[in-house]
Amino acid sequence: MTTRIGVLVYTLAIVAAAGQQGDPKVTEVWSPVPPVVQPGEGNAPPSDAIVLFDGSDLAEWREPAWGVEGGAVTVVARTGSLVTRRAFGDVQLHIEWRTPAVVEGAGQGRGNSGIFLMERYEVQVLDSYENSTYVNGQAGSIYKQHAPLVNASRGPGEWQSYDILFTAPRFRSDGRVERPATFTVVHNGVLIQNHVEVKGTTTNIGEPKYEPHLAKAPLALQDHGNPVSYRNIWIREL
Ligand code: MG
Repeated sequence: MTTRIGVLVYTLAIVAAAGQQGDPKVTEVWSPVPPVVQPGEGNAPPSDAIVLFDGSDLAEWREPAWGVEGGAVTVVARTGSLVTRRAFGDVQLHIEWRTPAVVEGAGQGRGNSGIFLMERYEVQVLDSYENSTYVNGQAGSIYKQHAPLVNASRGPGEWQSYDILFTAPRFRSDGRVERPATFTVVHNGVLIQNHVEVKGTTTNIGEPKYEPHLAKAPLALQDHGNPVSYRNIWIREL
């Protein structure tokens, strides 16, 4: 008798599932409620972003030696990187950049700068408009690790944007990597890096490797000797 009831219940369950009957509330989740964020117009920062540069001053940056003019900050050659006062881990970063309108140099010498997450992991900034170089060093590459999926570059002198999703690496207490860092990068609205794994600190010479570091570290913009400009820089901690 018990077995018969069991079979009946089982059969009814199968029929219910097949007919999409039952209670849809069982699979509804009502909490926690995601916080409300007021989105920005166009590329303007959303309400929960930290604005690192809005065109006016460099208060968010350490000992800035670069020049602010016309709402943009421009590399002053041989003054060193521009580094944030705050430290960050997992982030969403929006940043706009412009290489010089007057083309000088070639390859890696043409409009070179870079965006270093945690002062170590570089998304390359370069004038890659009809400018041949090694592909894992062109604009939007994770320098010497991952070439971009496509070249979505605008021309010299034009403003371009990166929207970067970065997850910081996680280290075990003994310093070994528990989980590597990852990058997703959208260049001028085009996906160019799709959740790629970072192999370690981006370096010019030799294979990349990880050096254990703190969970948060500053963002840095590279002085590579070329007068590259930046504007509208905002970041969201994730
Ligand atoms: Mg660079």
